[in-house]
Amino acid sequence: MEDAPRIPYLSKARCVGCGAGYPIEGLLYDCPLCGGNLDLLYDYGAIAERLERHGRDELNPALLLAPVRVEKGDRLYFEIAASKRSVPAERTAADLGLRSLTLIDDTTLPSGSFKDRASIAVLMRARELGLRTVAGASTGNAGASLACLAARLGMEAVIFAPRAAPAAKLRQIQAHGARLILVDGNYDAAFDLCLEAIAERGWYSRNTAHNPWCAEGKKSVSLSLAGSGDTLDCDVILVPAGDGCILAGVHKGLVDLQRIGWIRELPRLIAVQATGSAAIANAWRAGGTINPVPANTVADSLAVDLPRDGAKALRAIRETNGVALTVDDDEILKAVVDLATREGIFAEPAGAAVIAGLRRAIEEGSVDPGERVVALVTGNGLKDRDAIAPIVGEAPVISNLAELP
Ligand SMILES: *Cc1c(COP(=O)(O)O)cnc(C)c1O
Ligand SMILES: [Zn+2]
Repeated sequence: MEDAPRIPYLSKARCVGCGAGYPIEGLLYDCPLCGGNLDLLYDYGAIAERLERHGRDELNPALLLAPVRVEKGDRLYFEIAASKRSVPAERTAADLGLRSLTLIDDTTLPSGSFKDRASIAVLMRARELGLRTVAGASTGNAGASLACLAARLGMEAVIFAPRAAPAAKLRQIQAHGARLILVDGNYDAAFDLCLEAIAERGWYSRNTAHNPWCAEGKKSVSLSLAGSGDTLDCDVILVPAGDGCILAGVHKGLVDLQRIGWIRELPRLIAVQATGSAAIANAWRAGGTINPVPANTVADSLAVDLPRDGAKALRAIRETNGVALTVDDDEILKAVVDLATREGIFAEPAGAAVIAGLRRAIEEGSVDPGERVVALVTGNGLKDRDAIAPIVGEAPVISNLAELP
């Protein structure tokens, strides 16, 4: 394997709204001109040349297309961004009548969720900028992730979370020694307060979509799918969507692989939203722009009134010929139990939503049973263990064997 590149190939940032370009220096958040989210772009020609010289087998896309400087000692980057986490899900595939299903199991990342992919990129970027304190708003997982990885790197985290976030996620944040601020309001309120606090206190922002290094970190999941050939072993990827940043990141990773000539075609992206929090799916169906909804779903990690990465999420669906679909809370909870019993993976509701989405997609004909499907399982079930209580029921209590049912 090649040495880690010492300097990333980043070249500039570009606004998805107005197209304005910005140099990769200092603090780069949303576009100062129009408020749009930024894309980070690379010197794709130079990377393509390197790929020509060395060939696919010698290179790791997670290093080639890294948005931060990666040294050999950056263990955490290798553990999170440059690792392969795919699991064949044969029993689920058989149940759905599907040819092939691969799960990306991010329930076992350090903090137990996909959010680690964004947090590691943001924390390493903060370190490059010489900033020690990173703040973010979170429904729970982004905060737990930032707290966990900041502890590993000896940095400081400040988390703004809705007071009604699942207790396990809030305790997780506190266990890692982060400053937890509970907001008397929802995630959207926490987001706005956090941005104000950042402007006042000079902290670095790990606010989803607002900081382009979030999506850029999340793209590592797509880079992990790249193999030795110029096609991926998948036709379609199912992605859970709240803010839409995972969707944006998955798409960006695929596009970057295409731009350097690693792959020729992109798989279709299917966004899975909860019926009670479906701003992206609504906009996609109406062929219009994002309007906020009053979000309400058992999948707390998907509960978002106004998706912060909506523009990129819609672009991801459109440009890959994908679709957006919605699943009800009871389908999501059933998927949690199905996934745990068939594959031995206990996911939180948002993490299992893709399984419910896959069932729907097959029924609706947006996935063909002959296709090779990848689905992202994004969060650990221990973070919200009580969600499934209504389905699994209570265990019997006995004091002697005569009572054994
Ligand atoms: C945050 C999160 C999502 C949704 O990601 P977005 O970028 O908000 O669309 C899905 N699953 C889990 C477990 C999450 O924590
Ligand atoms: Zn702009």
